[in-house]
Amino acid sequence: MTSLPIAPDARQSARDPRPGLAGLTADELAAWFTARGEPSYRARQVGDAVWRGGAAAIDEVSTLPAALRLAVDEAFRFDTVSATELRMSDGGLTEKALHRLSDGALVESVLMHYPARAGQRERHTLCISSQAGCAVGCPFCATGELGLTRDLETAEIVDQVRHAARRLGADGRRLTNVVFMGMGEPLLNLDRVLAAVDALNDPRRFGLGARHITVSTSGVVPGIRRLTALGPQFTLAISLHAARDALRDVLVPLNRRWPVAEVVAAAREHAAATGRRVTYEATMIAGINDTEQDARAMAELLRGDHAHVNLIPMNPVAHTPWTASPGDAIERFAAILGAAGVATTIRRNRGQEIGAACGQLAAERAGEPAPAVVARRRERLVEESARALRGERSDEGVPPLVAAATPGWGGE
Ligand code: SAH
Ligand code: SF4
Repeated sequence: MTSLPIAPDARQSARDPRPGLAGLTADELAAWFTARGEPSYRARQVGDAVWRGGAAAIDEVSTLPAALRLAVDEAFRFDTVSATELRMSDGGLTEKALHRLSDGALVESVLMHYPARAGQRERHTLCISSQAGCAVGCPFCATGELGLTRDLETAEIVDQVRHAARRLGADGRRLTNVVFMGMGEPLLNLDRVLAAVDALNDPRRFGLGARHITVSTSGVVPGIRRLTALGPQFTLAISLHAARDALRDVLVPLNRRWPVAEVVAAAREHAAATGRRVTYEATMIAGINDTEQDARAMAELLRGDHAHVNLIPMNPVAHTPWTASPGDAIERFAAILGAAGVATTIRRNRGQEIGAACGQLAAERAGEPAPAVVARRRERLVEESARALRGERSDEGVPPLVAAATPGWGGE
């Protein structure tokens, strides 16, 4: 793996047209070798190098004759990540990776180590990105601030996992969990995300059980319904943040397309059809969504559901006027949910000092926005949230970026 500091001006260039090997199914790889008149064990050798070995480049696959290595290299990319910069925090328990892709697009992944505890084995969880940037534009999120650059290819999603697995493997450790909670809205790149989950799941490829994979969405209702029709593939997490539409319109602009009641109804159907508990996430922001009124609204919304709520203090983001909720406010919130029978956990956010909320490293490389722009954004957020807290719902339509990312999915 190349590890180097990624320049702030990692320039956009043309995307490498060769498909990534990690995006191919075992049958597709086998078919390529068969079409060239090669014996089937060659496909297995390459497949093993991609999925099981420690090789970072096709040149390192020494079991393959040089001419065949060259042919594979002409047709495919062994790795779709061209450079990776690593940053450690939490005394080495959190490793944040900034990856540069072939066209210069930057994406992040975060590897979190959880040491063994009484009755629990050690875990190594990787948080990965599904898009470079994001169109949804949640104001507390560093990725939302960047806007959408592009969807990731299947191999670009999976290669983040291969990178972490190689790093762990070098120390004799194994990746135990993958969460799609990095940059991007996975359900707005659903075909590629499903193909990536398939690669992670497939015993002939990465071989990680569906129960060890979580996909988080800000509430793309048609995407949730599509997942429900497919049956259980992974744990579904919904970024709820607020149960009242006026406030959720501000915190998750996608709420103006699919309001919270529709999102929760789709999640409920998903839980009923798959038998799998839905996880809800709420990023806790001081004085904004952590009030008693909000806790009661969330308790009423989720009362009696097969659900679990995670409360996570907000990671500070440069362009917002907001701060994380204090611990006692989060505890009060959790107690109200708990009293309504809603299973709730308070999570500590990892790696604050290296910006572990995904998108923060990429935002840093994109450069600071002009102070006047930041000031205007902050002012607007203060106004919008004050209006929302009075319970007034804005009559603004679906934001243009969201409308462009969800064409034909509901009225403007
Ligand atoms: N787009 C998807 C998945 C990526 S975001 C989604 O929104 O669910 C993954 C999680 O990180 C979401 O729950 C999101 O709300 C949370 N998040 C984003 N910015 C954060 C911040 N500054 N502090 C804490 N959590 C944050
Ligand atoms: Fe996109 Fe999720 Fe960030 Fe919202 S929280 S902007 S949906 S990545």
